[in-house]
Amino acid sequence: MIIVVSGPGGVGKGTIVDRLVSRDSGLWLSRSWTTRDQRPGEPADAYVFATSEAFERRITDGGFIEWTEFLGNYYGTPVPDLDDVDGRDVVLEIELDGAQQVKERFPDSVLIFLLPPTREEQERRLRGRGDPNDKVLARLRKAEAEEPLGRRIADHVLVNDDLDRTVDDMLAVIEGERAVRSSG
Ligand code: 5GP
Repeated sequence: MIIVVSGPGGVGKGTIVDRLVSRDSGLWLSRSWTTRDQRPGEPADAYVFATSEAFERRITDGGFIEWTEFLGNYYGTPVPDLDDVDGRDVVLEIELDGAQQVKERFPDSVLIFLLPPTREEQERRLRGRGDPNDKVLARLRKAEAEEPLGRRIADHVLVNDDLDRTVDDMLAVIEGERAVRSSG
């Protein structure tokens, strides 16, 4: 099963998927490629940090299951190595354009769309990452523009107003999807 976790920047996707995979040993978190610079304090393994040339070469080689350009940088999900996945369910933490591509390519995938409790809270989280003001504003605008599409194509919509509860709810959603698949 492919579980796609999407939602606007500042909604807490990264923290949530880290907790998900640490609580459910049947989940495997994909590591994306990006051409953006590593943020101060960001772990070196948060992404594969690539040059545009390396990224474009991998596109040509068919090495991504989806990729997109997001606010001036490339982001993409590499085709997973099945030995690494080892029979687990695959978790992708990606933005909405990529999520839409995955749903089209793998209609059985499960798209969970996360929303922030309020725009103010989302802005506070985005600013807390130390991004420059213009980037924060661009992400907020994009979030607002994309929300209707996200709600429409999602299989499940969750509001992240309490981290522990959101993670519990997502684990319940995943268990439910597993049950549907094993019975059908
Ligand atoms: P950030 O620069 O804040 O780490 O990520 C920007 C956005 O790109 C986030 O919404 C994040 O979920 C998304 N993203 C991360 N990896 C991928 C990927 O492989 N593909 C796509 N389409 N989006 C990604």
